[in-house]
Amino acid sequence: MGRSGALVVGLARTGEAVVRHFAKLGLSVVAVDDHSHPALRQRAAALGVELVEAPTPSRLAELAQGVEVVVVSPGVPAHHPVFALDPGIPVMSEVELAARATTVPILAITGTNGKTTVTTLVTRMLAASGYRAVAAGNIGMPLVEAVATDAEVLVVEVSSFQLALTSTFRPQVATWLNVAEDHLDWHLGMDGYVAAKARIWANQGAGEVAVANAEDPVVTAAAWSAPARLVTFGLGVGDYRVHDQRLISPQGVVARVDELPRTMPHDLANALAAVATAGAGGASAEACREVLMDFGGLPHRVELVGRHGGVSWYDDSKATTPASVLAALGGLASVVLVAGGRNKGMDLSALRAGAGRIRSVVAIGEAAGEIEAAFAGLSPVVAAGSMDEAVALAAEAARPGDSVVLSPACTSFDWYGSYAERGDDFARAVRTALGPGVTSGHSLDGSSPSGAQERPKNGAVR
Ligand code: ADP
Repeated sequence: MGRSGALVVGLARTGEAVVRHFAKLGLSVVAVDDHSHPALRQRAAALGVELVEAPTPSRLAELAQGVEVVVVSPGVPAHHPVFALDPGIPVMSEVELAARATTVPILAITGTNGKTTVTTLVTRMLAASGYRAVAAGNIGMPLVEAVATDAEVLVVEVSSFQLALTSTFRPQVATWLNVAEDHLDWHLGMDGYVAAKARIWANQGAGEVAVANAEDPVVTAAAWSAPARLVTFGLGVGDYRVHDQRLISPQGVVARVDELPRTMPHDLANALAAVATAGAGGASAEACREVLMDFGGLPHRVELVGRHGGVSWYDDSKATTPASVLAALGGLASVVLVAGGRNKGMDLSALRAGAGRIRSVVAIGEAAGEIEAAFAGLSPVVAAGSMDEAVALAAEAARPGDSVVLSPACTSFDWYGSYAERGDDFARAVRTALGPGVTSGHSLDGSSPSGAQERPKNGAVR
């Protein structure tokens, strides 16, 4: 008996785009969502799609019976009953679905940290080279929507969630930035997480390019079995690397480090990865150089809030894992760290590796106790009950030459709705506490700190 129709799991931004995609194809669609609220029902009504709210596992199995395809949205958790459906039912991610619907070249970027930054850089490098390049995936526009644009090249940020549910996804260039502990609850272990990431290379052939971090042992181990042509990057080793204070490619010097607005070690690694990826996708060396020279970084990623009394204040609210906190610490000499929030299942004791650069710690949020335990015997820790108190305590602890960094290693959901809200509140608290004496390379008037795509380069971290 033939199958017909589609089941869409999750009706947020991606689910909505998938429903529209199927509607265009004339396929009948049912959407399910674990949540039940009026906004969802309104969305379903506007789309003209049948919505089943919070179905039981048996109802879900019933709905999936006989459909041609089940498409799972990125945020659906691993323990969801959709993953226990009859193996005969084709279950795929939106990325797999979208890639099947286009012949436009896809450049894909994955990794634990730096995806959004590198995806942004690569898209700009291709655009500066004259291509109609569209950034898609986690970064904003779902890929299934992007394939319907007039893009000449698609640059897609893909998470392990999306890669796990691919079977034919075959990017022309596929970049794997790094691996650190993250989302372990979703994949039920590090092995599953790594295996999911490795799918970015699995379907490539010799005509395609795999870009790998030569300094990440997990990435390099997987790269041995990547079928595509391998291109590597790394601070010290790789086809793209830093040599003599210059970023170099196999073709020559891309830029001098002292010309760039962002020069922390992870900034340079991201820059090299972006040049390697964009270059493999057809970007010119000159365009890559221009984009790097103009890139001040994205909001809430070691973003300079301002300086006061010789102390620099940074918002790194996007750092929700110990690995990204350690990346921030790696580029700063003497730090007062503001950390904590809601631990998403991480081993926060990994932060101890950064203690050598820390003067003291201000612990915030639900995980304050875990942060205190992590630094016990290594660095002084005080707990704060609000962001304003955290800033006041950090200001007391900091000495001229220090950096105060909000780099939480945790999600924001104990106190805030998003990492952007948390970062904005930190910046507000800094301005309130330090008053008009705060100086900065960019406006501190509070105008759209998180709405802006990026900071002018003078506002960047040196
Ligand atoms: P993602 O999209 O993978 O979450 P982002 O570019 O949004 O990555 O950066 C997230 C956090 O990780 C920020 O705190 C940022 O400073 C940090 N970060 C960025 N690139 C790297 C990297 N290559 N290694 C480690 N940390 C990084």
